[in-house]
Amino acid sequence: MRLRNVPGSREAIAESIYAINEPEKQKGNWKEIFGNNNPIHIEVGMGKGRFIMDMAALNPDINYIGIEKFSSVLVRGIQKQEELQLPNVRFVRMEAEVIEDVFDKGEIDRVYLNFSDPWPKDRHAKRRLESREFLRRYDQILAEGGTVEFKTDNRDLFDFAVEEVEPAGWKIDELTYDLHHDEKMNEGNVMTEYEERFSAKGNPICKYIISR
Ligand code: SAM
Repeated sequence: MRLRNVPGSREAIAESIYAINEPEKQKGNWKEIFGNNNPIHIEVGMGKGRFIMDMAALNPDINYIGIEKFSSVLVRGIQKQEELQLPNVRFVRMEAEVIEDVFDKGEIDRVYLNFSDPWPKDRHAKRRLESREFLRRYDQILAEGGTVEFKTDNRDLFDFAVEEVEPAGWKIDELTYDLHHDEKMNEGNVMTEYEERFSAKGNPICKYIISR
């Protein structure tokens, strides 16, 4: 994600009704925000939020929360949502490491990880959103039967992610190294911004779905 300082982005986020600015206060009560009991799916590292808004438009009976650490990126999603006004989307600007402070046990039904930052140095492995440290955090907030779905074109990151699954006490439900040519897993696939960019260059897209 190319980062530019977008002047006024913090203010725009603070003012938006679609951004939850004190997310810790919402812990255990996220359903109240949406005013229904529908399942809640989150995307960690949503970037400009195209995927999550497309998903929300397609699935009005699911609530979506997009998480992004940079306000300069998140503000683009907020601007788009101000136009679309999808009732089932909210955004949180936060560092995903503290996700357990924001969501209660079992409050979330699915976690999407799309084209996560690779953190290629070994000493930064714990920062990868697919590391066992993060899987432990997702375990805390996911409901029984909840899943994590991860897509990337980065084969090294994907191989790391696959190797983390078992030691973390999870299991692989579905896996492909070429999503767009996998008829079953590609059915209903909604492309992310990065997915469109990298698949246009000819890069195969890897995907797994895991559960405990
Ligand atoms: N998911 C989008 C897509 O597929 O088009 C964006 C992918 S972009 C490479 C990764 C995004 O994740 C960046 O915007 C980055 O700021 C965000 N991100 C990475 N680590 C994060 C973390 N620990 N907490 C919150 N956001 C994070």
